[in-house]
Amino acid sequence: DKLKEVVILGAGYAGLRALHRLQAQSNSSFHITLVDRNDYHYEATDLHEVAAGTQTREKITYAIKDVINPSVTTFIQATVEKINRDRQEIDLKNGQKLHYDYLIVSLGFRSESFGIPGVEEHALEMVDVETAEKVYQHLVSQMKDYTHTHNPASLRVVVCGAGFTGIELLGALCDARRHLASIAGVEPQELEFYCVEAVTRLLPMFDEELADYGISHLKNWGVKFLTGKPIKAIKPDTVVYQEDKETGTTKNLTAKTIIWTTGVSGSRVMEVSGFKQRRGRVMVADDLTDPEYSNVYIIGDVSAVMNAQNNRPYPTTAQIALKMGDQAAKNLLAQLKGEKGDKFTFESAGSVASIGNTHAFGLVGKTAIKGYPASFVKKAIMDKSLLATGGLKEMFAKGRFDLYH
Ligand code: NAD
Repeated sequence: DKLKEVVILGAGYAGLRALHRLQAQSNSSFHITLVDRNDYHYEATDLHEVAAGTQTREKITYAIKDVINPSVTTFIQATVEKINRDRQEIDLKNGQKLHYDYLIVSLGFRSESFGIPGVEEHALEMVDVETAEKVYQHLVSQMKDYTHTHNPASLRVVVCGAGFTGIELLGALCDARRHLASIAGVEPQELEFYCVEAVTRLLPMFDEELADYGISHLKNWGVKFLTGKPIKAIKPDTVVYQEDKETGTTKNLTAKTIIWTTGVSGSRVMEVSGFKQRRGRVMVADDLTDPEYSNVYIIGDVSAVMNAQNNRPYPTTAQIALKMGDQAAKNLLAQLKGEKGDKFTFESAGSVASIGNTHAFGLVGKTAIKGYPASFVKKAIMDKSLLATGGLKEMFAKGRFDLYH
């Protein structure tokens, strides 16, 4: 028989997990082509640390070639432009076309501006290693500028949106405060960190006490929260937010650093390629395939699976992406043998947000964890995704804590 061609688009959490399982169970019936625009994988969960300068690029990336088995897989570094499902073909930006028999789409997320004017032009995004590094370089140049301009706006940073991304970024910025202040030649408390958020009840996935715990920590570290203030526009060095809902009056907050973290959507390729999508996410069939094409699996941030408990799609997280990668590979292996794949089920192991390097808060299962011990749990999740695959017991048994003393 002719070798079947399996193409995986994107080497993020979902794509690499699928690759890992397919390679582990490879037989001589298929060949894999993995495509990514970078020659490295990055830990998207750690981008905020690169943005704040508390972590280097090297610490959150590894070379894709290190996880490739060349006897089964070919890696192509290229940008995906379009997927043509009728022709079973991928258009790459370099003009190359790839044919597939089976496809795994795991192209990840992009920043969502919700059409708010000025966001793309005047705010910094933090969606990959390049943009995260740009945030840090921007911060450093503002600190340097301050030494000769003494413009207080150079010492002011606004984080737009208080979701997990915004909260974790603010925590990392607090960790970086002393270092940044020393570049500007000012006292640490002279740096001003703001967060402007549309809703008043923050972090709705947590109960109020737990959400307050995290927020009050940041407040104690000097972060100023403006809540119930939807951002209406970004102008040069200015965040325009609605001050009063009744009258619609707006206010301006000036700052030389404005970082946009109000949410994400799936890759634009989904829209361009005619998938049935909303904000770049496709509501997949039970077995993670495209409802329109059974030889196409859609996983990670471009995929949506309904949570029957609240009738809303599960939020896009690394945890669910890893699980989807695993299940898609399993189902594809079954499909190659002419068998039916299994239904994807997901039970969140919990979610933990870091606030700086030494604190965190969140839920492990249904148990709230906070403070210094929680930051260990968080580090363990980020290191090995152990919580997603094993659970707390395994984590303690493996004695990972020693690594962090
Ligand atoms: P999000 O959608 O979870 O949060 C965005 C926040 O921005 C919300 O609080 C929203 O009210 C606010 N917002 C939206 N429009 C606004 C506007 N015009 N003005 C002011 N505020 C506005 O997005 P996120 O934080 O980027 O997270 C994306 C996904 O990644 C989520 O599913 C999240 O759970 C996940 N994530 C998880 C972790 C973790 O587990 N530690 C960390 C980061 C992200």
